[in-house]
Amino acid sequence: MVYFGILISMGRRKSNRKPPPKRKAIVPLDTQFDCPFCNHEKSCEVTMDRVRSSARIVCRICLEDFQTITNFLSEPIDIYNDWIDACEKAN
Ligand SMILES: [Zn+2]
Repeated sequence: MVYFGILISMGRRKSNRKPPPKRKAIVPLDTQFDCPFCNHEKSCEVTMDRVRSSARIVCRICLEDFQTITNFLSEPIDIYNDWIDACEKAN
């Protein structure tokens, strides 16, 4: 009887295992990036203006900003990369 009890409890333990958390199907585009000026993480936010084909990135910590022209393929990460490029050229 004791033996059966162990088997049942083991079986139960197995079935009670939680499944791994499911990945979200839709991942929102990352619009927050590390600042190249003050080095804060995720302090720079990109705002895309699809109507005017422009985008702006501003650091909310040191208030450095950058504006650039976009096309319909531009993603926030592209704006950030443009900013980094512009910083490197300026230096
Ligand atoms: Zn900054």
